[in-house]
Amino acid sequence: MVAYRSTVTNGAGAHNVMHCPFCTTDDTKVIDSRLVAEGDQVRRRRECLICKERFTTYEVAELVMPRLIKQNGNREPFNEDKLRGGLLRALEKRPVSVEEMETHIHQIKHQLRATGEREIPSRELGEMVMESLKALDQVAYVRFASVYRSFQDLAEFRDAIASLEAEPTGSN
Ligand SMILES: [Zn+2]
Repeated sequence: MVAYRSTVTNGAGAHNVMHCPFCTTDDTKVIDSRLVAEGDQVRRRRECLICKERFTTYEVAELVMPRLIKQNGNREPFNEDKLRGGLLRALEKRPVSVEEMETHIHQIKHQLRATGEREIPSRELGEMVMESLKALDQVAYVRFASVYRSFQDLAEFRDAIASLEAEPTGSN
């Protein structure tokens, strides 16, 4: 069996030409297609229409990350390091493993892509991060929320704490 990786770009005008690894023609057809790796990859069985060889591809759907619209209207690309930095600060000295944190980063990125939007308000990313932290670690959530939302007053802060008490977590 021959397997090789290819990257398929999502979106209009994307090229999805698959060359046969045996005779290099691009006349191939898909026999079977399934999602693998938690839906991040598409495994395809293909058959070459010229030499009839069969091969498998693992295609990574590189779904485009939406750009973030800042409060002042500026656009900036999604920055994973920045997200990680924010989470690390919130999770400092908390009993949360790096692995758990990375899982949440993965989920947040998945959510971002799943919006299917080219641009979203950065506030929406902030809300996603807060939802994620709420389930991960409540202290980290309050830390992040207090910086992120820069609570206008004490009442708002109390509401955030109250909402934590209202929905106990522990499951994910
Ligand atoms: Zn071929």
